Amino acid sequence: LIRFENVSKRFAARRGQAEVRALEGIDLAIPKGAIVGVIGRSGAGKSTLIRLVNGLERPSGGAVVVDGVDVAALSEKGLRGVRGAIGMIFQHFNLLSSRTVFDNVGLPLEIAGASRDDIRRAVEPLLELVGLSEKRDRYPAELSGGQKQRVGIARALATNPKVLLCDEATSALDPETTSSILQLLKRVNAELGVTILLITHEMPVIKEICDRVAVLEGGRVVEEGDVFDVLTRPRHPTTASFLSSVT
Ligand code: ATP
Ligand code: MG
Repeated sequence: LIRFENVSKRFAARRGQAEVRALEGIDLAIPKGAIVGVIGRSGAGKSTLIRLVNGLERPSGGAVVVDGVDVAALSEKGLRGVRGAIGMIFQHFNLLSSRTVFDNVGLPLEIAGASRDDIRRAVEPLLELVGLSEKRDRYPAELSGGQKQRVGIARALATNPKVLLCDEATSALDPETTSSILQLLKRVNAELGVTILLITHEMPVIKEICDRVAVLEGGRVVEEGDVFDVLTRPRHPTTASFLSSVT
């Protein structure tokens, strides 16, 4: 469903700072219906990689193909079409504090020009799915971290996307809440058939829900494969160090 083909991303030199090679020679396939994880240290290029999928960043070289379309070649207008098919959730949830839970979840539909009735018909089952129907008229400040991320997930699903991108979606949460969010993502994958690309610096997250994993180091994929295989027989020292650290 998503394919990175020899993708590179450089950030131009600025104010005396050297050019940054954020990604080099990335080849990676995310099959339809899979949950694929990318793990790496801070600065490895994880966020850059995920932002290439919905065109928040443009590659310096190579192709990023989503559902048969090279998003790198799309105009800003073309990108808007693709973005409807891609939902995204964030470490710090990125909810609008002046909007209720209901209005946060309905926002992407409002922007797309949907009618109030259509918004209600889409938002109510999503609040049900994430277990927040009772909180629909609350504001983000009145919610726990886990509840905020549930709102983030419901909002990301509002446009009925094929793909959900998760950028450190559980990094701000305690282990128990992390687990419940990961279980919810599993359900979203199984029940709605949404393909998930998730980035993290925590191996337990990969272990808990991913089918496949890629290890990113210094902008390159140093190891990639089935989660069970990679975890039982890591071939790269970076993978091994992620496995031995106890967080
Ligand atoms: P973290 O775990 O800390 O979020 P990350 O793996 O997500 O790290 P990226 O944010 O993808 O890392 O950054 C990869 C590299 O690209 C870093 O060296 C970073 O400084 C650089 N970088 C990212 N965005 C920009 C930008 N807009 N301009 C210049 N350099 C950037
Ligand atoms: Mg990041």
